[in-house]
Amino acid sequence: MKQRLLDRLLLAARVHAVEQLGPRLRLITLTGPSLGGLAWVPGQHVRLQVAAGPSAVDWLVGTLRTYTVWNHLDQTIELIAVDHGDGPGAAWSRTVRAGDQLMLLKPQGSFVTDASAAYHLFAGEETAQVAYGPMLRALSAEARVFARLEVDSPEDRIELTPGQNPNWDLDWDYRHGRSAASAPTLVAAVRRLDLPPEPGVAYLAGEARTIQLIRRHLVDERGWPRRNVRTKPFWTPGRKGLD
Ligand SMILES: Cc1cc2nc3c(=O)[nH]c(=O)nc-3n(C[C@H](O)[C@H](O)[C@H](O)COP(=O)(O)OP(=O)(O)OC[C@H]3O[C@@H](n4cnc5c(N)ncnc54)[C@H](O)[C@@H]3O)c2cc1C
Repeated sequence: MKQRLLDRLLLAARVHAVEQLGPRLRLITLTGPSLGGLAWVPGQHVRLQVAAGPSAVDWLVGTLRTYTVWNHLDQTIELIAVDHGDGPGAAWSRTVRAGDQLMLLKPQGSFVTDASAAYHLFAGEETAQVAYGPMLRALSAEARVFARLEVDSPEDRIELTPGQNPNWDLDWDYRHGRSAASAPTLVAAVRRLDLPPEPGVAYLAGEARTIQLIRRHLVDERGWPRRNVRTKPFWTPGRKGLD
């Protein structure tokens, strides 16, 4: 019975490849017939079974963790996992190997770009950049973009776009061991931006407290309407498995 329930809820996939992109970054490619033809909007995520677990819900689906879809082509889904400690998701990303089988929920989420935005503003840390890559690739060549990314070191950067676009102002900074939580330097980088006078649409993902600080800056100091700031907290100290 359990297997029949799982088959209805979850998609079965196989790990096709695991590639080390940097010391803390792994590109994990999943494949399988059930991944073909899935609806996916860049910015959406999947929930993966990263471990079995003992609770009632876990009996059914196992321990789930959330990862943004970096790319979806034919019967493959690519994810990028950031290594950051000993939680079940991080442990899975360190031990996963080609040939492993796993189950996942289909792509979901409303953290996607707004084609009608006057311009687009992205800010975030290591995990946020995984969402921003596909969102940036989905924008038209004419779209105006500002992005401020802060990662621990240059090795933690992901190549977000295939080429340089003159309409895009992307810049990176490095924490060099400082925490990504409540990151004042990332807020300061957004504050320094010389943005057009009218509000654009901001996309703020990653660590939850930093997101709140940047949203406060945009709404209280720049006077942006709240609806122009799209947020998606991915993690925060002391909380497990945010979705
Ligand atoms: C919509 C969404 C999309 C996401 N996309 C991605 C993605 O593409 N790639 C990715 O790597 N992660 C992504 N995440 C974050 C990922 O789901 C979390 O990092 C997840 O909590 C990791 O699970 P875990 O079992 O390793 O840690 P948990 O058991 O959930 O947490 C254990 C501890 O680790 C801390 N922690 C969790 N994540 C981080 C981190 N990134 N840096 C520092 N400390 C952390 C927590 O605060 C907690 O104290 C996404 C999350 C959401 C909600």
